[in-house]
Amino acid sequence: MRVKSLPILIVGAVAASLALAGCSSPADSSSAGATTGYGPLRVVASTNVYGDIASTIGGDLVTVDSIISDPSQDPHSYEADAQVQLALSKAQVVIENGGGYDDFVGTLLKGANNSKVAVLNAANISGYDQKPAGGEFNEHLWYDFPTVHRVVDAIVDRFTAIEPSGAKTFTANAKKFTDALDRLESDETNLKSSFSGEGVAITEPVPLYLLEASGLVNKTPQKFSKAIEGGTDVSPVVLKDTLALFSEGTVKLLAYNEQTSGPETEQVLAAAKSAGVAVVPVTETLPSGKDYLGWMTDNLNAVKAALTK
Ligand SMILES: [Zn+2]
Repeated sequence: MRVKSLPILIVGAVAASLALAGCSSPADSSSAGATTGYGPLRVVASTNVYGDIASTIGGDLVTVDSIISDPSQDPHSYEADAQVQLALSKAQVVIENGGGYDDFVGTLLKGANNSKVAVLNAANISGYDQKPAGGEFNEHLWYDFPTVHRVVDAIVDRFTAIEPSGAKTFTANAKKFTDALDRLESDETNLKSSFSGEGVAITEPVPLYLLEASGLVNKTPQKFSKAIEGGTDVSPVVLKDTLALFSEGTVKLLAYNEQTSGPETEQVLAAAKSAGVAVVPVTETLPSGKDYLGWMTDNLNAVKAALTK
């Protein structure tokens, strides 16, 4: 399967700034899409994470445009361009994360004049309460393997409805994918049996589903990760409590979101390093040269290595 980059568009950007709610500071963003495959079934995914999954299931029968695919770009501060609008106007299936993560998809779709498109929303598919009482909904659902499994099932159903002749291909590809997902879930279970209850720190909730499924307990003050996610200031007291996690040996690892860093997260990173606490870098989008399953395998291996350090 060939992968080509969408040409960077110089024509005026449509739709002003469609900043996302959620994590991150306002970083500047150059829009970078990617197209995978040349099949008849046209799919647009909000990020290359869902784009890769859709490509894996659809194989040669689909063409997938991923709106965000640049690992240096923070999906939370994305600005759309006309190229994306065009892809959305022709899409038969759109895959979005939902939960407030990629609201720009819905906004652009409204202007895309595409009445036939089927929208798959991972947050809705997850079945999770998106407004949990007294808590925060973690929208980074692609780190949650049970949800990814459900999304794959929904993709197969939708692809098959549109292209019934591809049913066998979609089902076979999905089976291979979900078998691998099941293995990742057993890796989490194995980690849980050895390390249940160990403390971890995060800069943002990005990998939290994976960490919690592995039995690990997030010890980061909620006010810290919330401030980082929302791009607001961290109070000195909260920062001090966060830094103490490392000097006092409360946590075994720091999961560090490489896609949104700032002075406070860098201080936390330095504290982890100087205390000899393992750092597990995580990202919002697929690193280049990786597919979803390889990426998640790497993530779990990195967590395991950090715990056994
Ligand atoms: Zn995020």
